[in-house]
Amino acid sequence: MPNPEKFPFREMTVTLEGGKKLTLSKETLSAGLQYGPSHGYLPFRNQLKRMVEQWHAPPRWAESDLIVTVGNQDGISKALDMLLDPEDFIVVPDPCYSDFLCMLSSLAPQIVAVSVDDQGMRPDILQSALEKAISSGSTGIPKALYLVPNSCNPTGTNMGEERRQEIYAIAQQYDLIILEDDPYCFLQFNDKYLPSFLSMDVDGRVLRFDSFSKVVSSGLRIGFVTGPPPLLQGITLHMQASCICPPMLSQVLIHELLTSWGDEGFKKHISDICQFYKEQRDAMIQALKTHLTGICEWIVPEGGIFVWLKVLHLSDTSAMLLERGAKGDIVLVPGREFMVDSTKPSPYMRAAYSCVTPEEMMKGMENLAKLIQKEIEL
Ligand code: PMP
Repeated sequence: MPNPEKFPFREMTVTLEGGKKLTLSKETLSAGLQYGPSHGYLPFRNQLKRMVEQWHAPPRWAESDLIVTVGNQDGISKALDMLLDPEDFIVVPDPCYSDFLCMLSSLAPQIVAVSVDDQGMRPDILQSALEKAISSGSTGIPKALYLVPNSCNPTGTNMGEERRQEIYAIAQQYDLIILEDDPYCFLQFNDKYLPSFLSMDVDGRVLRFDSFSKVVSSGLRIGFVTGPPPLLQGITLHMQASCICPPMLSQVLIHELLTSWGDEGFKKHISDICQFYKEQRDAMIQALKTHLTGICEWIVPEGGIFVWLKVLHLSDTSAMLLERGAKGDIVLVPGREFMVDSTKPSPYMRAAYSCVTPEEMMKGMENLAKLIQKEIEL
């Protein structure tokens, strides 16, 4: 370790929303500037463990553990490296978070793509797709199932409680590890928290990925994984080899922030940002109703930052959005980007309502309606 006394920083104070100051003590700043444990800064891990116990009450908590990651992206990609051998099967929803599909591309597993409805992955299709994959004679092993249960990226949908139980039962039947990617769990608009897969895990088959990206800062790059210690050990070894430890200053800062807030302060912060995103969602739905009724269909999201639009009389949105929409400042992501087979056409597109004003949404949807009309006439 280098001597932290020789680093050029002497003190650190950040001003929080509302004007409150957060000052790191000399020891804390020193810890934040130094290398740390590969599984995360201990006081922070302990704090996160209390949080997981409160929010999820995992049935196998005594046999579980928690490690810190460089956001969910990092935790998931390390988990995939650890779990998958080429030819193994992984089950994914189709459409799926596009960066997850990117992660799979270098690992070359066999992908079992399962269509979704307004609650995410369909259990009947999951069951038959797994039966088919296994009877195909492949030597690959069905290993893992990936899903985003709350405010899914890209569809914005929530998986209902019964659906979660059905999917869990199928994972038990085929001995699959569930990768529960849940960065939007705190961005729920109805004060209703559906039980996580971790909270129903009686076997130790769930790796749950949480992130501070959507609620504290995406640039601090901090997430955490909860699950069975043998699986977490694989991710920790990977962390040690690839980047030694998650960013210490970010961990120290979030730890101090959560400590200064206490449980109630954290809940209040969550409630405030949910109120903001809910108003954004409402403004987006209003803009859609005003300009895209009869042109597109959508499901009103109950949380998160996305709405998934289906264009009614168009087979594919890619050329329209990438070649012509971008010129008119319409930045929506074509559905194809999220499909397991991205060569097939998709009439869908993803709109985000996080960083635009209600006026921009109204104008943007008006322009989008014109763009679609023109495209249909082409
Ligand atoms: N999973 C999903 C479903 C996401 O939408 C995102 C953010 N785009 C991530 C993971 C990455 O999150 P993080 O910033 O925690 O790495």
